Amino acid sequence: MTNSILQDRPDLDVTRVRHALKFRLLQVKRVQALNPHFVRVTFTGDDLEDFVSASFDDHVKLFFPQPGESMPAIPQAGPDGPVFDPSKPRPIARDFTPRRHDRATRELDIEFALHEAGPATAWAAQAKPGQYLGIGGPRGSFVIPTQFDWHLMIGDETALPAIARRLEELPEGTRVATLIEVADQSARIEFDTRADLYAQWRYRNESEHPGGALLLALRETFVPEGEGYVWAAGEATLMRAVRQLLCTERGIDKRRIRASAYWKRGEQGVHETIDG
Ligand SMILES: Cc1cc2nc3c(=O)[nH]c(=O)nc-3n(C[C@H](O)[C@H](O)[C@H](O)COP(=O)(O)OP(=O)(O)OC[C@H]3O[C@@H](n4cnc5c(N)ncnc54)[C@H](O)[C@@H]3O)c2cc1C
Repeated sequence: MTNSILQDRPDLDVTRVRHALKFRLLQVKRVQALNPHFVRVTFTGDDLEDFVSASFDDHVKLFFPQPGESMPAIPQAGPDGPVFDPSKPRPIARDFTPRRHDRATRELDIEFALHEAGPATAWAAQAKPGQYLGIGGPRGSFVIPTQFDWHLMIGDETALPAIARRLEELPEGTRVATLIEVADQSARIEFDTRADLYAQWRYRNESEHPGGALLLALRETFVPEGEGYVWAAGEATLMRAVRQLLCTERGIDKRRIRASAYWKRGEQGVHETIDG
């Protein structure tokens, strides 16, 4: 399925790819703190043999063991989606980005932004080699071409894995700007890219309101000529404001924006695509 805006530029069509639903049991191989707020967990397992992630925008569902248990209850793939064992409590599940996958070594990296409280954060903060976790998906991929004249990527800590992966995947010389709001300087990470990157970091404590520093910077961000694409992910209310600002104040065509709520203040396990 494609979403065409320019008839003479089919290379700029966004594509949606479906994948067969599969649930996998994985084991922690390595744990690495990237900064005091951000942990990379490398999983391994033979189940990764046929794992596919076609886009930096993908997500997998992580299934955590119940408190006091070591194995997660993973659903089966049924014709209409996941089928859970009715004799057991539903496993706690949260969405995360497949940051890096290596089929040869059967490794998958997931990076967790640690925050105040939540089952995923609590699990990541204690993760150790040998522990088990279940994953489901990705069920589909939203593939944004790399050929745009420019790319703008906006987000908070939860968007860092997707942004870092995209920056690694973009071809040499691609014009890309990032605008990222994190708690403070210590929450920054290093990017590895061949692209022509203009990275802007903003800190939550610079502003009275969460997101205020990011919105202020977005108002002033240079938007180049040519065909561009904006990808944004983070807290729901902020991402709505980002999309609104891009459409109304910056004149960006809404079909050239992919904005997602990766979490919502005060609610658990939220995922929404913002298109209204
Ligand atoms: C498609 C997709 C991809 C994602 N990829 C990643 C990823 O790669 N890495 C990553 O770290 N996160 C990612 N997230 C976000 C992650 O799923 C949420 O932050 C999730 O809520 C964390 O679960 P939890 O159990 O820790 O907290 P929950 O139980 O869901 O929430 C508990 C409380 O914490 C708050 N909360 C949740 N997340 C945050 C946060 N980041 N900062 C402050 N407060 C928060 C909630 O509002 C709630 O009040 C992704 C989300 C989506 C939808």
